[in-house]
Amino acid sequence: MTEVINPATAAVFTSVPSNGVEETDAAIERAQRAFGSWRQVAPGDRARLLRRFAAVVDAHIDELADLEVRNSGHTIGNARWEAGNVRDVLDYYAGAPERLSGRQIPVAGGLDVTFHEPLGVVGIIVPWNFPMPIASWGFGPALAAGNTVVLKPAELTPLTAIRLGELALEAGLPEHVFTVLPGKGSVVGQRFVTHPAVRKICFTGSTPVGKSIMAGCAEQVKRVTLELGGKSANIVFADADLERAAAAAPASVFDNAGQDCCARSRLLIQDSAYDRFLALLEPAVKAFRVEDPALATAEMGPLISAGQRESVASYVGGADVAFTGTAPTGAGWWFPPTVLLARSTSDRHWREEVFGPVLSVLPFRDEAEAVRLANDTEYGLSGSIWTRDLGRALRVSRAVETGALSVNSHSSVRYWTPFGGMKQSGLGRELGPDAPQSFTETKTVFIADR
Ligand code: NDP
Repeated sequence: MTEVINPATAAVFTSVPSNGVEETDAAIERAQRAFGSWRQVAPGDRARLLRRFAAVVDAHIDELADLEVRNSGHTIGNARWEAGNVRDVLDYYAGAPERLSGRQIPVAGGLDVTFHEPLGVVGIIVPWNFPMPIASWGFGPALAAGNTVVLKPAELTPLTAIRLGELALEAGLPEHVFTVLPGKGSVVGQRFVTHPAVRKICFTGSTPVGKSIMAGCAEQVKRVTLELGGKSANIVFADADLERAAAAAPASVFDNAGQDCCARSRLLIQDSAYDRFLALLEPAVKAFRVEDPALATAEMGPLISAGQRESVASYVGGADVAFTGTAPTGAGWWFPPTVLLARSTSDRHWREEVFGPVLSVLPFRDEAEAVRLANDTEYGLSGSIWTRDLGRALRVSRAVETGALSVNSHSSVRYWTPFGGMKQSGLGRELGPDAPQSFTETKTVFIADR
């Protein structure tokens, strides 16, 4: 059994079973058998089941959100959005089974037709930072394409995934089509990688574990999608609407207590606007409400664990602190929003993914330097550009090596647009209209005309 802790109080409030290799093998084998009939379900019926799953999730938004507040320390506002995101993802991909069409290609002596064949069992490995949405970005399109799914939630945050597994059955999904298997990454997750019946891994988490999963998948030439870390830049040019950019900056890095792979954790400010921008940013950071995440007014809750707080604190000790917000004291893994001035681009807090409410700030001279600094990282997941110059917005967007950018906004992940990273931030794309195809093999069949 694994104890589950409320990060806002540091109190253990329940425990869940931890699966071993034997249980994992048995679940994968059941999922493999279920695949045989799930892939035969008529497209319209599979669509109806996914829509019903979405409706059941919708009827349990408050319950799922409350669980996430207690298990993950997410603010109630965020947790409701996250549960709603699962519903929306299921509704969106419910349209896919009836649209998974192939092509016909003229060939001398006949024609070639293509089919999108489901892969079989798909293994989804989920981190603790967004337990519900990240799970659904994998299982929504994977189920729609006719695969069965085994899902491993993070040990720290298994509760909403377990509940989603129950709700799938309540909605009428056949048994073993969608199985949630709590347990250790090194046991359950690793078995997904080595079990030959698991034909694709969807992994979201740290870059080192992602690399080891990619190496493991190579053994069986297993399909793999990796959504890894980030160190995204928020680039503010002097001609931008500075008030708007400064008002938006705190949430772009402190949302979910900074435990977000898309966090804009490096703030690049054009030197002529540097002092003015920091003067606007300070009150916005100080006003950012860090409090009991169950309160409707909360904008940020605690960090996920004592270990994460220790890790985040290690980046702040000895650094130049510009200013901080406030956070509760006492029980729980609290950490205040913190703004650091980078002395150089070799500062650890400037280079590494902190995964906490820490923003590093650096000035730049001109457009070329902004692009060079933004790209001076092994990561390339997200980022923002603030400017009123449309040509510059376009040039910088094309030049920054990152997968999901926004201009004059901090929006990053939408289920109807592709999402994923460049460089060491990942491999492959999730979401968007083509996601179900990435859970299929394309097969070509030549049919002779005589
Ligand atoms: P991990 O990469 O260790 O964990 C992510 C998931 O992978 C968890 O479900 C974990 O299981 C599982 N896992 C761990 N080891 C293996 C393995 N050998 N084989 C298969 N699955 C495995 O991330 P952490 O939770 O340790 O976070 C560490 C750092 O990673 C963070 O501080 C942050 O920098 C980054 N991170 C990035 C995320 C992102 O969204 N890009 C998400 C989470 C973390 P379990 O935890 O149950 O053992």
